[in-house]
Amino acid sequence: MDLNGKRVLVVGLGKSGAASALFLKSRGARVTVSDAKTEDELRSAIPVLLDNGITVETGGHGDRTFHGQDLIVVSPGVPVDAPPIVQDRSFGVPVIGEIELAAQFLPGPVVAITGSNGKTTTTTLTGKILTGGGFPTLVGGNIGTPAISLVSSAKPDTLIVLEVSSFQLETIQTFRPKVAVILNITPDHLDRHRTFETYVDAKARIFENQQADDFAVLNADDSSCVPLAARTKAQVFWFSRKKEVDHGTFVRDGSIFFRAADGERNLMLVSEIPLKGAHNVENVLASICASALMGCPPQEIRQAVKDFKAVEHRLEYVATIRNVDYYNDSKATNVDATIKALESFPANIHIILGGKDKGSDYTVLADVLKQRVKRVYTIGAAAEKIESQIKNATEIVRAETLERAVRRAAALAEPGDIVLLAPACASFDQFENYEHRGQVFKEIVRAVAEQAKNS
Ligand code: ADP
Repeated sequence: MDLNGKRVLVVGLGKSGAASALFLKSRGARVTVSDAKTEDELRSAIPVLLDNGITVETGGHGDRTFHGQDLIVVSPGVPVDAPPIVQDRSFGVPVIGEIELAAQFLPGPVVAITGSNGKTTTTTLTGKILTGGGFPTLVGGNIGTPAISLVSSAKPDTLIVLEVSSFQLETIQTFRPKVAVILNITPDHLDRHRTFETYVDAKARIFENQQADDFAVLNADDSSCVPLAARTKAQVFWFSRKKEVDHGTFVRDGSIFFRAADGERNLMLVSEIPLKGAHNVENVLASICASALMGCPPQEIRQAVKDFKAVEHRLEYVATIRNVDYYNDSKATNVDATIKALESFPANIHIILGGKDKGSDYTVLADVLKQRVKRVYTIGAAAEKIESQIKNATEIVRAETLERAVRRAAALAEPGDIVLLAPACASFDQFENYEHRGQVFKEIVRAVAEQAKNS
């Protein structure tokens, strides 16, 4: 793609929008960035753009902004069915996302990972395994560094590991991962994708441009993933915790195996995985499968998995106070992630639930609450809805705030119990984001630990 002298509009000034604008400019394009937010809200992002000679429009899009552009780059937060975007597309103007832009400039092979839950964990681990295996590797995408920012340091032999969201996949055209992984598909973001089918379709686009010498990696235990094998030209590899697969990774007698056309290899023990929960075994199986397909040697795979630490806010161990373990799973912003967190501990859990509701159905928590939870502590705007939907499952304490929830749990927990933040909700009612919520949780736990030491 030759960008020199082209007029390009970047819609949405998030992290990837800003990175795209700077990249486009560096390749000689005439770049405008437009965002519905006010100048005040976007303040920190604007100066660097202006300094680089990029035009910035804030507080909405002017009538003429979309006219006469050669290319539109939309950010993942922007709906692709917004009227001016639909109109430009109808005039033949290409409308792509930042991942597609990056795909056209990244010289080396890409391992792309999507799914409803586990993307960040699996992407991070895959990056560590490949690095440990001696491959020059860069990690980015939806996780931290935008893919487009990797272009400047990527060489033809650099492996690129990308976390990609369903929103990002909606705006690809030629993006063709060497290895494409779909971890699982459970209802999430239905506010934006409208139906489960369109959400599945967006995820399946990760396979859209793959060819016979590429690899698709799918979860054999996930009934929404299985039919997607029919939608790729790539060679299909599976991962499964529950059964042996013809090609891919699986568990037999407590060991993890990788099987391909040339036979199977015993890679490591499941008990060597330093992460909690069966869902993390799935993430490890997916990472191992992708890394083995890229040619990573077994010994390096095993070592990297053994050395891996939970990514912050993902079932992260915080402390043990009076023989009670505290875990921060602030990233459990949907019901499925919360169920997975609860299933990671056999019993005696004190769980903090609540925050900003995403239209979720909390009744599905009832069984696991009955089996494993001593008490639920509700916080935030969703407290009432959650309480009404789980009312007969277990004892409930209305705590309102995270501080009160942790302190009540600390007071009521007995030795051997678990205190778990896995709230099944977004955080925006009381916190800036899930990271902030997790930080606050950890600070409160540390304060409780200090007080316990001094008393
Ligand atoms: P994502 O990037 O897809 O949001 P993360 O690795 O950040 O994934 O994990 C998000 C949440 O989902 C965390 O609460 C984590 O404990 C949980 N989780 C991680 N892996 C899985 C999985 N394979 N299935 C279900 N839940 C998972």
